[in-house]
Amino acid sequence: MQDELFDTMMRTIRRYAPYADETQIRKAYAFAQKRHEKQKRKSGEPYIIHPVAVAEIVAEMGLDTDAITSALLHDCLEDTATSYSELASEFGDTVASLVEGVTKLTRVEYASLEEQQMENLRKMFLAMSRDIRVILIKIADRLHNMRTMQYQTPEKQISKSMETMEIYAPLAHRLGMQKIKWELEDYSLQYLDPENYKKIIDYLEAHKETDEAFMREVQQTLENRLQSVGIKSTIYGRIKHVYSIYRKMQVQGKDIDELYDLYAFRVLVDTIPDCYNVLGHIHDLYNLVPGRFKDYISTPKPNMYQSLHTTVIGRQGIPFEVQIRTWDMHQTAEYGVAAHWKYKEGIRTNGDEQQFEWIRRLLETQQDTEAEDYIHSLKVDMFDDEVFVFTPRGKVISLPSGSTPIDFAYAIHSAVGNSMVGAKVNNRIAGYDLPLHNGDIVEILTSKSAKGPSRDWLSICKSNQARTKIKQWFKKERREENVARGKVSFEAELHRLGYDPSIMQGDELRNAVLTKLSFETLDDLYAAIGYGGLTSFKAVSRIKDELTRADRAHTKSSAEQLPFHLPDQTTQKGAVFADSGVIVEDIPSCMVKFARCCTPVPGDDIVGFITKGYGVSVHRRDCPNAAGAEDPAQAGRWVHVEWAPSGIESFSTSLEIASSDRAGLFLDIATIMTSLKIRVSEMSSRTLPEGKAVTLMTFQVHSRDELDTVLARVRAVPGVTDIKRGRA
Ligand code: MN
Repeated sequence: MQDELFDTMMRTIRRYAPYADETQIRKAYAFAQKRHEKQKRKSGEPYIIHPVAVAEIVAEMGLDTDAITSALLHDCLEDTATSYSELASEFGDTVASLVEGVTKLTRVEYASLEEQQMENLRKMFLAMSRDIRVILIKIADRLHNMRTMQYQTPEKQISKSMETMEIYAPLAHRLGMQKIKWELEDYSLQYLDPENYKKIIDYLEAHKETDEAFMREVQQTLENRLQSVGIKSTIYGRIKHVYSIYRKMQVQGKDIDELYDLYAFRVLVDTIPDCYNVLGHIHDLYNLVPGRFKDYISTPKPNMYQSLHTTVIGRQGIPFEVQIRTWDMHQTAEYGVAAHWKYKEGIRTNGDEQQFEWIRRLLETQQDTEAEDYIHSLKVDMFDDEVFVFTPRGKVISLPSGSTPIDFAYAIHSAVGNSMVGAKVNNRIAGYDLPLHNGDIVEILTSKSAKGPSRDWLSICKSNQARTKIKQWFKKERREENVARGKVSFEAELHRLGYDPSIMQGDELRNAVLTKLSFETLDDLYAAIGYGGLTSFKAVSRIKDELTRADRAHTKSSAEQLPFHLPDQTTQKGAVFADSGVIVEDIPSCMVKFARCCTPVPGDDIVGFITKGYGVSVHRRDCPNAAGAEDPAQAGRWVHVEWAPSGIESFSTSLEIASSDRAGLFLDIATIMTSLKIRVSEMSSRTLPEGKAVTLMTFQVHSRDELDTVLARVRAVPGVTDIKRGRA
């Protein structure tokens, strides 16, 4: 019985793959037979029936000994106690890795998904099977399972049929395997829409005799004509496959008897000129249906299919399609990749290289060291730059190869990336920088209190998408920080000039200011100041008129108030800054208050918080309210502050700095003072005619040396023309 099974298989193999090594196949057969000994198919037959059938299909595809061997062993890793190393030592590494590849594909979880996802899944299949033989064996496996699907439960029939329709039939199509694609589709349809399937089958059955008579007649007519003109040809007539009729009915919204071209004829000839000759004779014999002629010989389909197609009207007005092609083209049409592969050895391609252009892109021939191997293994390289991974719910995500959990997180959503606190790959906690592999299941752990991306993520991630989103996060964070800083600086400037910063809350003034300074919102203005694109001094001096007007309207009694106060006129307000004894980094002349919660005193380690309303509030670093200072999400609002040097005798001095009216000059000087840790009590500047400006600055120094340092540094500021010592 089993020998009979083997003999039948060998007959098929010898017919389609005469080069196959019978010794190895016999060994694999015996091995699989033993391993599956106690297993039965759902049909009750011994399990070995299945691998044998798959091996026959693989042989029909024209594949090599290793592929046939692997087909016989394809379920050993999955369903029996066989190990990879056992396969490798018995049958070699190639067979072991082919079987392993098929096993991996078997484990891919399938759920019905939308179109793009299916495409990703199909690509993943191709990418996972680095050797195209893996896919071919897998397709053969599926074909036999579909052929024997009647023994499965209805649920399984439907789910397997959907999977076949969505993954395997398109794969077969992509690989150019028309015949297998049709068979897969017809079996699937049988379970997915049994009613309509039966309707079509019944119709075809009922019309069988007339159909066959019609096809015989056409075939005879064609044969006679071609024979009479001396063209050697083989002609087949067939009814189109069930699923293609079904599709036509669905797409055209017609009943089966309204459909035309259910019939297709195939004329196989030896040469390309013969193809065109045959076409001429057919168009001479029958009227053609306009718009139906297609020349896929001069323009092959992307899956390298070549043929001439035409539809003509036969006896009694029945239309039929004729496909004309060479035997080579036919082989390719039936078995696609496999056919090309097989034929490539026999026919040294030169001129017709071009027809396989796509396949060179898709597949790269792998140099095989074993000369006896008739067929070289093919590598799928097209997706080398992509990796396909799953979400825990089975959605396929495609990423650039080398991608990490960070890329994955941002591919899901920027909010997921920004709140990521960890990752699991295949249910194991993984590092952020772990490179992902095809088929990995990736889960991102998020937290509302996540600190957001860190800068080194930029060097870990591989996708532009992740990089852009991380940069956006930082830019947005910086904006908040800039807005906060700019607001403090702007309000300090208003305050210094004697205006209540709350003046900006008036709609009229705000709109006038925004128009004058060309900003959309106050935050935009603050961000520009915070960023350093505009100094608060400049901003405020440009809106002097608006401020005066608003202030006048606000407090009629202040009609005399100068828009610009000299330092000695603002001593009272100046004291606010001068007496704070705290230097705020980057923000000179900043209003400072001490937090009541921790009442810092000089010598305490302190930190400043930019308040929403009013300057910087200073906390002790160990104050519970300062705990947020370590939180990067609030980083923009916490500023570095220090105690101004004190305890030693200090004296107040002033400088009058003449300069050109240069944007940023005020900030440059302020920055120098901050960096020298010199407490500035007053600083103001005004523009003079002819592009000049003068800056007045009062500050505390402890020594002449310190003053000289200030003088030297300020003199070096670009635009500064002269410095005079002012009132002390
Ligand atoms: Mn199987």
